Amino acid sequence: MDSGIKNFADLVLARMKKPDALFFRGDDGRDLSYASYWELTGRIANFLVAQQVKRGDRVMLQAEKSVEALAVFLACARLGAIFIPLNPAYTASEVSYFLKDAEPAVFICDPRKIPGDRNGFTAFTLDGNGQGIFADALQRQPSEFEKAAMNWDDGVAILYTSGTTGKSKGALLTHGNLGSNAVTLAEAWQFTADDVLLHALPIYHTHGLFVAANTVLVSGGSLLFRRKFDVDDVVALLPQATVMMGIPTFYTRMLAHKKLVREKVKHMRLFISGSAPLLAETHAEFEARFGHAILERYGMTETNMNTSNPCIGVRKSGTVGMPLPGVEVRITDPATGLPLLPGEIGMIEVRGPNVFKHYWRNPEKTAAEIRADGFFITGDLGSFDSDGYLTISGRGKDLVITGGFNVYPKEVETELDLMPEVVESAVIGLPHPDFGEGVTAVVVLKNSNLQFDEAAIIAELQKRLARFKVPKRIIAVAELPRNAMGKVQKSQLRETYKELYKA
Ligand code: AMP
Repeated sequence: MDSGIKNFADLVLARMKKPDALFFRGDDGRDLSYASYWELTGRIANFLVAQQVKRGDRVMLQAEKSVEALAVFLACARLGAIFIPLNPAYTASEVSYFLKDAEPAVFICDPRKIPGDRNGFTAFTLDGNGQGIFADALQRQPSEFEKAAMNWDDGVAILYTSGTTGKSKGALLTHGNLGSNAVTLAEAWQFTADDVLLHALPIYHTHGLFVAANTVLVSGGSLLFRRKFDVDDVVALLPQATVMMGIPTFYTRMLAHKKLVREKVKHMRLFISGSAPLLAETHAEFEARFGHAILERYGMTETNMNTSNPCIGVRKSGTVGMPLPGVEVRITDPATGLPLLPGEIGMIEVRGPNVFKHYWRNPEKTAAEIRADGFFITGDLGSFDSDGYLTISGRGKDLVITGGFNVYPKEVETELDLMPEVVESAVIGLPHPDFGEGVTAVVVLKNSNLQFDEAAIIAELQKRLARFKVPKRIIAVAELPRNAMGKVQKSQLRETYKELYKA
């Protein structure tokens, strides 16, 4: 990390070599230079101080994507407050849980979503066009903001995990977590001031908020900031960009777009994918059609980015690459915690400056998931190959245990996805009277009328997989349930089909 710099805000300022350079270009026609963006964050910081927000206080935001919403994070970093972004899709009762858990001093929200009960915090409005009481109040604030003295180890954001079981937990991230990851990624992905990143990701999640925005912020490039991912819009804009970051769904939609031709992306430097597994097929098709091998990387809310395929070198499809510089990744036996060898599938554990400090007000969870030697137990299963590339086999809780045998969903899904009639698949375990769990495949088929020969697919799989791994049933659906980050919601599938093997 840059020497003598002690927090994320100072890092951004130190890296701002050309204040007049463009940082932000919005789809509302607004352009902001680095200096203007810095001034905006200064106004927000002054506004928050006027609301009595002090160092360590929380500032919660549930708003549509706008440059103001993005700038609240850096404003918090400048004054030492803790930023908490929430998905705009959360309902009032979900938001009330987060308000109680985090106890923010200020809540910035959509005008339609002001909570009725505002005990302990003040609420200000901000809509998707960057308008509202919050935005109006900023006009009256000075843009100069005095430098505060935070340290790398101080908290700067709490991101709630998108927990599918139980209440979601707040991961407290420090200045050091975000600063180190931004610098590491900018170097690993060779970002420069000439880069223009097409930003169509949400900004309540680590991918759009930190990976995309911070990597650009520390390298002097600019963001082409789109409020939503719209494939027509993205395809039309690609000629103006040099880098794109996306979730796999972006890339499958781009592949399906008729106007996207090789010529339009010839100049592009890099396409990056993460947040959910990129199908090897998507990787291959993208490379064949457009001449770009999508770079897949792996991270999570608690750890920022952990591994990445190389910028220069072989990008192996179906893998998430190698540990990033400074990040240690090990695979352990989930039962004993002992290290496993390359080729063996086990729990992915991570240690490094990228790993969060602790779960917010939840020492039990922190102690259960961060080992005494500092390794964080990610909950993801995976293995290293002999070249040091990591492959993710799925979430540990998605592991299927059938008749005492472990079945890693990814292995079965890979075989299914290779079949000509299958577009994609999700393998889950469902309660089964004989086996404990029955391996079950939910598939999306190429022919959309959902007619298929279940026995033929099972017979084909029997040739390719050990008997215990072969699904007992195959269910065809029009599409797999996914969240906004493109992750297949397996818990939802397990709930939907939980009675399948009941007599
Ligand atoms: P989140 O905390 O919402 O960012 O989700 C993190 C989880 O997404 C990880 O623990 C992985 O299970 C999954 N994930 C992220 N990137 C990838 C990837 N490239 N391939 C497969 N799974 C991924």
